[in-house]
Amino acid sequence: MANLSNGLCHINSFVNIPTVKFTKLFINGEFVDSVSGKTFETVDPRTEEVITEIAEATKEDVDIAVKAARKAFDSGSWPRMTGAGRAKIMLKWAELIEQNIEELAALDTIDGGKLYSWCKAVDIPEAANLLRYYAGAADKIHGDVCKTSRDLHLYTLMEPVGVVGHIIPWNFPTIMFFGKVSPALAAGCTVILKPAEQTPLSALFYAHLAKQAGIPDGVLNVVPGFGSIAGAAITSHMDIDAVSFTGSSETGRQVMMAAAMSNLKPVSLELGGKSPVLIFDDADVDKAVELALFGILHNKGEVCVAFSRVFVQEGIYDEFEKKVVEKAKTWVVGDPFDPKVQQGPQTSKAQFDKILSYIEHGVNEGATLLTGGKTVGNKGYYIGPTIFSNVKEDMVIAKDEIFGPVMVLSKFKIIEEAIEKANSTRYGLAAGIVTKNLDIANTVSRSIRAGIIWINCFFAFDIDCPFGGYKMSGFGRDYGLEALHKYLQVKSVATPIYNSPWL
Ligand code: ADP
Repeated sequence: MANLSNGLCHINSFVNIPTVKFTKLFINGEFVDSVSGKTFETVDPRTEEVITEIAEATKEDVDIAVKAARKAFDSGSWPRMTGAGRAKIMLKWAELIEQNIEELAALDTIDGGKLYSWCKAVDIPEAANLLRYYAGAADKIHGDVCKTSRDLHLYTLMEPVGVVGHIIPWNFPTIMFFGKVSPALAAGCTVILKPAEQTPLSALFYAHLAKQAGIPDGVLNVVPGFGSIAGAAITSHMDIDAVSFTGSSETGRQVMMAAAMSNLKPVSLELGGKSPVLIFDDADVDKAVELALFGILHNKGEVCVAFSRVFVQEGIYDEFEKKVVEKAKTWVVGDPFDPKVQQGPQTSKAQFDKILSYIEHGVNEGATLLTGGKTVGNKGYYIGPTIFSNVKEDMVIAKDEIFGPVMVLSKFKIIEEAIEKANSTRYGLAAGIVTKNLDIANTVSRSIRAGIIWINCFFAFDIDCPFGGYKMSGFGRDYGLEALHKYLQVKSVATPIYNSPWL
């Protein structure tokens, strides 16, 4: 990486990538070294080279951050100011994000291998949108007056839950950050957020912008570090009042156990998926092929709602299989800064190795590898789009969340069979239906146990749309006004009416 005189690092021919400015923990409004002085490397998955060293939070640092967040909550201005006051600061933060879109998009691309064009057009603008949506809600949070059958004036207050711990994964570093932090701040909570160890860069930049916007010290603390150390310190902390977690189902179980074994804090969990898409005989095959490929290859398959199981009705199965394989072979894998590229590298070496071992497992179990299955290039964590057919339901590749560009393709005859196959998974995050028939769409959408159903579309999210899982995909909802309730608690207040027997 060559430092240029204008302060930019030219690392490829497509974009000038800024030098990383923030590498320390953000606690109580300051960037600080960790108590232990420890650091960890964050790696560019395009090149396998170390981008920079990041301060590593351990239990001591989490304790300091919790003290700051506790003080900011128990006696600071944030929970006490008006909703409109909080909104004003959040709106300023959104503006600052928009002024730095390119730099932030580049950080998520070098850290996570995400498509630069997508980060610039979707992820970073969505951060500002999330802040604005919840800023709009901040001054509309209120309780109810209860209709009592006694001589009481009874009402409820909606109060912020307190100090909140947020633990987020590495596939959407920006959207996960603001999907958690925005409703929590609007509710009046204070926050300790641990970004994933693979992708800490943009979170620290957001902390810097939060300070510039006027978020008071201690209200937002960002503590990069490892799950088993910093993450576990958050989930087991006696002074954290609630935890919202997004990540794997295995880790979700540990989060819940840690909460249960400490102060019984409420947790909300958005976990893994093995989402089905059911493509019926009446579908336009070319469109269905595009949808199914986008469904599994978007963000290199590192998407909890990915359409990793594709079920196609027998009347169009052969045509679909031929076309989806042809199209997958034309998919452009390469440098995510290149605007022509459709798929960048997997985020980390660990994820790269895990996907390759699932592919090997699929082949060894006897599934047919129709295309892909191989790495691309000789540097970076690139894996070609991979499609398996002849997959039996009990094969590991049909059951486990692979979290990579690996499609599992199967045939079905009738609607009941499709529904049964779609539901035969321990997960229940999302599902897709491709049909022009309203009866099929309505029947199937009501029969699949999943938190979101996409009819003739994929990834059709909206901030106003609550999102979360059924079954082992977790519980609790992010986004929408529903998410605010994770960060609020209801207090009932009773007062006797004059002359009532309660006096
Ligand atoms: P993956 O295995 O794909 O990295 P995880 O669910 O383990 O997915 O990671 C999601 C987030 O959870 C990351 O920020 C990670 O550091 C954190 N994490 C991992 N293990 C724990 C744990 N035991 N307690 C709390 N957080 C954890």
